[in-house]
Amino acid sequence: MTRAILALGSNIDPERNLPMAFSRLRRQPGITVLVQSSCYRSPAVGGTGPEFLNAAALIATRFDPAALREVLRGIEAAMGRVRSDDRNAPRPIDLDILFYEGFSGEVEGTRIPDPDVAKYAHLAVPAADVAPDWEYPGTGAVLKSIAAGFRNDIEVCMPTEITRSTGHYATEQGMEAVAGEVYDPEFEATVRGMLVQLGEDPTREGLARTPLRVAKAMDFLTSGYNGSLEDVVNNAIFESDADEMVLVKDVEFYSLCEHHMLPFFGKAHVAYLPNKKIIGLSKIARIVDLYARRLQVQERLTNQIADAVEEVLSPHGVAVVMEGSHFCMMMRGVQKQGSSMVTSAMRGGFRTSSLTRGEFLDLIRD
Ligand code: ZN
Repeated sequence: MTRAILALGSNIDPERNLPMAFSRLRRQPGITVLVQSSCYRSPAVGGTGPEFLNAAALIATRFDPAALREVLRGIEAAMGRVRSDDRNAPRPIDLDILFYEGFSGEVEGTRIPDPDVAKYAHLAVPAADVAPDWEYPGTGAVLKSIAAGFRNDIEVCMPTEITRSTGHYATEQGMEAVAGEVYDPEFEATVRGMLVQLGEDPTREGLARTPLRVAKAMDFLTSGYNGSLEDVVNNAIFESDADEMVLVKDVEFYSLCEHHMLPFFGKAHVAYLPNKKIIGLSKIARIVDLYARRLQVQERLTNQIADAVEEVLSPHGVAVVMEGSHFCMMMRGVQKQGSSMVTSAMRGGFRTSSLTRGEFLDLIRD
């Protein structure tokens, strides 16, 4: 894997297109997004056209520069970008390679490193966010010193909401479809293809906007991939001398099993033994959602929640018990409806002390 820095820019519906581009980069096989920049607002180059939102990503990739450029062009096309002779025409998304580790040269007429980095704030500043110590080859200058001269020329906008949101553009309220709405043409085409495979007519009235709704629903149901524990916890940890068990019972969860992509859902019970730190109760539910809104197996989900609580609180112990009903079993009749699967993760005091564990198990039994 080789590291590279990408520039992202959008001046058509950028509040939606920029997060979508990040989401597509994350989903792209062969690309791992390592760091995302804040989001910046800048005027269009040449001074005409709507303002841009700009960002950068530090990635690791198995593609060589030419193949990476092809992949980026593919993402642009899927998001409705049409390249024209007008270099400054408004665009839903622009994805460019600014730097590629160990490479200096031309890819189809475009220079890498991109010499515009030294000229424009909207490229230099986001790039310096993701790789401040990256050296501009041949100059000895690092990105943070190049960007330092531009800091006042560019405005940060909603850094966390735009580039690091959890399900920013697909929310519970947002799963409905409006006539003529364009959301994710490539994904929608895939769903349309599935409907055809099922012997359905995707043009009949009831199904016409189904691909759009499914694309939104799937984005929402997997929005946990776009979140981070840091953002979820976000300053909700408090000092405390309490040393009694803290228990949050009956946290509803909804997830998708990774084997069938069918729902499994139920209740999670999360307890910890505080070690000077406690967390807001609602944050436990947000941690559960962060890991549930992904393709999962219940065992891993249970362990990830326990790991997360351990990571943010360093408690004397963590216990997580989850009871889930799985559509893939219920609908096949393998399991009687209503019966559920129970998984648990016990750490620290809950593992070593049968008394503590017993107390927890009694409490969640009602
Ligand atoms: Zn399954």
